[in-house]
Amino acid sequence: MFIAYFSPLFIWSTVFIFGLIIGSFLNCLIWRLHKKETLGGRSYCPHCRQTIAWHDNLPVLSFIFLRGRCRTCRAKISWQYPLVELATAILFLLTWQMNSVQPDFYLLLARDWLLIVTLIVVFVYDWRWQLIPLTVVWPLGIAIFILNLLLGFFWLDVLFFAVAAAGFFWLQYLITRRKGLGEGDIWLGAFLGLSFPGTADLLLIMVLSYSLGAIVGLTLISRQRKKWQSQIALGPFLALGAVITLIWGERLIAWYLGFF
Ligand SMILES: [Zn+2]
Repeated sequence: MFIAYFSPLFIWSTVFIFGLIIGSFLNCLIWRLHKKETLGGRSYCPHCRQTIAWHDNLPVLSFIFLRGRCRTCRAKISWQYPLVELATAILFLLTWQMNSVQPDFYLLLARDWLLIVTLIVVFVYDWRWQLIPLTVVWPLGIAIFILNLLLGFFWLDVLFFAVAAAGFFWLQYLITRRKGLGEGDIWLGAFLGLSFPGTADLLLIMVLSYSLGAIVGLTLISRQRKKWQSQIALGPFLALGAVITLIWGERLIAWYLGFF
């Protein structure tokens, strides 16, 4: 393969920088989805609407140089910006490394990067606005489904897991009478089934996300930041559980099975 001609350090830094740029694009996408704007046009400060110069719009670096404030109006820039950029870069790098020994490297990488992109957008969007961005989940879910077929999964199997995972959330939606989780979570369930067509992976995602949700929920209640009745969106925890399963799932499942 052509990548064998480059030194590992060169490849890793290129992948990392590419991840930072995609992360920067995701921040922009999240904001414009929320504001229902198109992706065209220059970036601007949401506070003073001043157009941001390219040198103030560098992933992570500009946040550090500007000490987290807008150059014009000094309004605070959200930590979301550098964190999303770093998370994308780190996850791109981890999946690059993880897949680089596989024969289907490019297909696996394309699927995993699309998955990471969707999960990051879902995480931030649902955290901030308690809404699953379906305009992102639907098309990328279809793309991941196609990539999984190219990777050798049988289409009926993949669809079975999509329906099963969506059905799980649909049942919960009926039982809890539409409290605690929304219609978006049913679609997110279908997306996870298309992306992780296997019982072990899907169970691990559920266990991880419900445990993380419970820990965070109880912590917020004990600090009196939330009341028992108030709702915490499930989407961010599902996204987090799915990312952990993508990177460490195999090891976690092997570790768990080691007890028997
Ligand atoms: Zn500003």
